[in-house]
Amino acid sequence: MPPAPPDAALARIKDIVGPAGWTADPHDMAPFLVEPRGLFHGKAALVVRPAGAQEVSAVVKVCAEAGVAIVPQGGNTGLVGGSVPHEHGDEIVLSLGRMTAVRAVDPVNDTITVDAGCILAEVQAAAAAADRYFPLSLGAEGSCRIGGNLSTNAGGTAVLRYGNARDLVLGLEVVLPDGELWDGLRGLRKDNTGYDLKHMFIGAEGTLGIITGAVLKLFPRPRHVESAFVGVDDPYAAVELFRRVRDAAGGALTGCELIPRIAIDFTLRHMTGHRDPLAERHPFYVLLELSAPGGPERLRDALENALAEAIEDGVARDATIAANTEQARAFWRIREDMVEAQKPEGGSIKHDVALPLSRFADFIAEASALVEARLPGVRVVAFGHLGDGNVHFNLSQPVGADTETFLAEWGQINRAVHDIAMAMGGSFSAEHGIGRLKRDDLKRYKSPVEIALMQRLKQALDPQGIMNPGKVV
Ligand code: FAD
Ligand code: ZN
Repeated sequence: MPPAPPDAALARIKDIVGPAGWTADPHDMAPFLVEPRGLFHGKAALVVRPAGAQEVSAVVKVCAEAGVAIVPQGGNTGLVGGSVPHEHGDEIVLSLGRMTAVRAVDPVNDTITVDAGCILAEVQAAAAAADRYFPLSLGAEGSCRIGGNLSTNAGGTAVLRYGNARDLVLGLEVVLPDGELWDGLRGLRKDNTGYDLKHMFIGAEGTLGIITGAVLKLFPRPRHVESAFVGVDDPYAAVELFRRVRDAAGGALTGCELIPRIAIDFTLRHMTGHRDPLAERHPFYVLLELSAPGGPERLRDALENALAEAIEDGVARDATIAANTEQARAFWRIREDMVEAQKPEGGSIKHDVALPLSRFADFIAEASALVEARLPGVRVVAFGHLGDGNVHFNLSQPVGADTETFLAEWGQINRAVHDIAMAMGGSFSAEHGIGRLKRDDLKRYKSPVEIALMQRLKQALDPQGIMNPGKVV
């Protein structure tokens, strides 16, 4: 347990940020101390909300001098407990919630420069207002913040075409663990001038410094979009369908999500305003999205032809192409709502696994067989970003089972499922990170060389260990 922060240090921090920039009131602090799913509850000596990068730098300098540990926090929507403090209460939470300025939009360079506290949806809107497109998109986009997206190297539904958060960054501004401010806000697509330092901080989950600003890539707005909902027999057929559409559509394929029948049943049962997209029931569905900046003709033809051939060859059983934007929205709302629709079905044990696409269907088959043998009656809800080889292999408790008893299996089931993914050359955390939740997995699955390298990096940048301690490494 670290020593409690000295009162003098806390007083200096309060002074730096002013009355609007801190709270120690238990009621006001509460939302910053709990992980949204309730997996972790922490305490903090103070919640600080600086107004700008200079204030962040000044606060961190005081913390470095006094040895006070800092937990950086964005929208607190992360799923692995990285953004909440520990239970001992001697850390401070540093929230980026007041740093929400869009600093610049440059439509010629196709970049947007933002404060790290900008809400993702607001970055998207600022890009759209300049007739540009920022493609990062995920369920939490109304509340997660760009600094959090970069710190977790977030994925989402457009990775297939545009890459992870990491691929969307040209420059960063970071406050280092000693309080020094690094201005790396360059908007260059080519810059081979030594180590590419920004990538150290992306995906570091706040353990190497605090991101305060970023230069992000923009793209032409996709003016024409086609979505299709396709029924298939199994994940093997889904992967085959993906291959066919990828070849037919070239770079125009933007999204390819796997949806199991059970997730549609849950969504129809618990969420309002949905209808079954296809007349018959199919064991699995693939939601496809193609988009292009230009005219509609080629895109529609490519999709229609690929689907017609897939049906003829027995790869797909049935398909419907959205006739208009409203119908396309309805397809995607099923994909978005099915996460929420799992909750009323009781406890669920979750996995966020990545596989080489060539092993994607094997993984679902093998992992399903394993969990069904170990937990009779368990309901496998294997859905997610098929195009990226990323499956959220979630398990709903058997009907009528005791939730506590079921959730007690979490650790053991995780272990067995992750073993299968790793044996197939996969990853045990595709897009959610390590945080506190998956530290043991990191130790188990990373090679000693890789762990030692990570520890040396941490030691070099944060020798005092004040930056989000106890997370990741
Ligand atoms: P937080 O939760 O506040 O923080 C996350 C981590 O980053 C913590 O370790 C924190 O210490 C650190 N951090 C935060 N801000 C900074 C900063 N400025 N500098 C340094 N460190 C910082 N993830 C996906 O990848 N794909 C999805 O499709 C997806 N869907 C989601 C859907 C829902 C409904 C929810 C609730 C979450 C989803 N997530 C998804 C999880 C995702 O990682 C987060 O939503 C998001 O990227 C985190 O942003 P945040 O601002 O909430 O970060
Ligand atoms: Zn996801």
